Amino acid sequence: MRTEKTVMKHLLIAVFMITLTGVVLTGCGLRNADAENKPENFVTNDSTKEKSGEYMFKVQKTDEEWKKELTEEQYYVLRQKGTEKAFTGEYDHHKEKGVFACAGCGAELFSSEMKYDSGCGWPAFFTKLAGDRIIEQVDRSFGMIRTEILCASCGGHLGHVFDDGPQPTGLRYCVNSASLKFIRSGQK
Ligand code: FE
Repeated sequence: MRTEKTVMKHLLIAVFMITLTGVVLTGCGLRNADAENKPENFVTNDSTKEKSGEYMFKVQKTDEEWKKELTEEQYYVLRQKGTEKAFTGEYDHHKEKGVFACAGCGAELFSSEMKYDSGCGWPAFFTKLAGDRIIEQVDRSFGMIRTEILCASCGGHLGHVFDDGPQPTGLRYCVNSASLKFIRSGQK
């Protein structure tokens, strides 16, 4: 009798923990995005293209060259697809007017007018600058299906794009500060 009660207690705790984990992941935006159910403006390619070297990035550098040019954190995020800790990035609450370029190659990607406070802990943009500046591809890491965004010029990892952004696009480009370099208006 006592054993049955203990088993039931453990079962209830397990169910509670699983539910709690699901709620936390959903709240952090790390939810299972349904790749089949994306808005039309999601242009999703498969990451096998990148792995097979099918993308011809304009800026080509060896690993050693990237290591020399980038800070440790930039290298970790841009070249190793890392993620900076939430709420720690330089541009999370950045509100100056200007353009955000790729920290790896300088390609201009977003403007301050596209930035909004999503509260997710990373800089968020509801759209990107016009042109083929960003590549989107399926990211199946960590047991989730997400859409990774890469700089189209150098292949640097920027972050992910989600479909829970504000109108008019409904998109949230969630970008690591370490992947970006801010250029203040009139600074160029
Ligand atoms: Fe780049």
